[in-house]
Amino acid sequence: LVTESATHNTHLPLSDAEVLRIRNDFPILETEVNGRPLVYLDSGATSQNPLSVMEAEQEYYEQRNSAVHRGAHTLAVEATDAFEDAREVVAAFIGAQSNELVWIQNATAGLNLIAYAFGNASVGKVSEAAERFALTAGDEVLVTEMEHHANLIPWQELCRRTGATLRFIPIHDDGTLDMAAAATLLNENTKVLSFTHVSNVTGVINPAAELTAMGHGVGALVVLDACQSAPHLPLDVKALDVDFAVFSGHKMLAPTGIGGLYGRAELLDAMPPFLTGGSMITKVTMEEAEYLPAPQRFEAGTQPISQAVALAAAANYLTETGMDRVHAWEEFLGQRLVRGLEAIEGIRVLGPASGAPRAGLAAFEVAGVHAHDVGQYLDAAGIAVRVGHHCAQPLHRRLGLNSSTRASTYLYNTSADVDAFLASVAEVRGYFG
Ligand code: PLP
Repeated sequence: LVTESATHNTHLPLSDAEVLRIRNDFPILETEVNGRPLVYLDSGATSQNPLSVMEAEQEYYEQRNSAVHRGAHTLAVEATDAFEDAREVVAAFIGAQSNELVWIQNATAGLNLIAYAFGNASVGKVSEAAERFALTAGDEVLVTEMEHHANLIPWQELCRRTGATLRFIPIHDDGTLDMAAAATLLNENTKVLSFTHVSNVTGVINPAAELTAMGHGVGALVVLDACQSAPHLPLDVKALDVDFAVFSGHKMLAPTGIGGLYGRAELLDAMPPFLTGGSMITKVTMEEAEYLPAPQRFEAGTQPISQAVALAAAANYLTETGMDRVHAWEEFLGQRLVRGLEAIEGIRVLGPASGAPRAGLAAFEVAGVHAHDVGQYLDAAGIAVRVGHHCAQPLHRRLGLNSSTRASTYLYNTSADVDAFLASVAEVRGYFG
């Protein structure tokens, strides 16, 4: 399911010429917006699908569509095979085994599932080890000041339910995490450490392996929000040694409605279920039920089957393109973005300055112009960016503003995209001034 163009010259780093070939796989990039060629710089919010992903989903509906794990008929068996093969592909993409990957709707659903398991250790009484998920007053949950609301509010609610205390690791003015504070905040009461791998606002790439080792050092379970890393850099959950990780398919070339939750096998096996009902049980009486092992225990009800098949096609596309090449190209684009923005008067870039490591995105403030006006001005030029708080209000508050404009790149963006964006941003203050 990998197109010729994406696999071309995989030994060479990505270049503008190579990206122009990749773009042939993404029909939407040919669209015109407001009479101008679309410059899509909003992949941090959601990414575009290549033909191979759309074809995989269409082929599933044309040839295999059926309920999985049930019917004895041929189509049901084929659909089940496609669904479970997809699990294997996507698990391998993040360095996991297939029994360690639970299908979820998106990262938000995955983080809620994990947070719900804590403090509900008795649900389903799946094993003695479920005690790992007990949480009471005196226990602590540690997050960071740069979290997306999806990795904050579920923990707030968990602490409200259980009486545990939510604490956060602060950031420095340049958006990087205060690692000295992290070392101080982690203590024997810390039961969960949950942090984002890559900030969706500042582009900061957190030292995930180091933080995980620190969390394990005090006996905490470590949860990684890999929403902005799984699509953009080589991710190996085993090498990082995290206990859980979540990601959304729609941010990595796949459709909406599908994502992955990784859990270390022995932990997933001990984790209480969230949703209960059909497809996750072995035996049910009128009084009680016995549950299937992971991952099925967490997949109650009919699953997003075609979406899983499509996500596997997306993972194949990314693997064939080469995640190290994708990452290197986005680093290049990210630096070009930040250097260009820094050169424009009246612009303040959030996060690390040019030259410092960051992901291929940049959020910024334009002096005297509201982010929504910036977004509209760019849209008139066919340039798609995101404006607002990017679901990170506490982070914006910490950086002294309510909203910002964000340009975020992916493997299908060229230097010309970045330059067109910079040229438009340079006009904004003159236009509104
Ligand atoms: N975490 C981060 C860092 C994100 O950037 C996002 C999406 O923007 C999410 C979590 C939530 O993803 P979803 O809306 O797909 O659940």
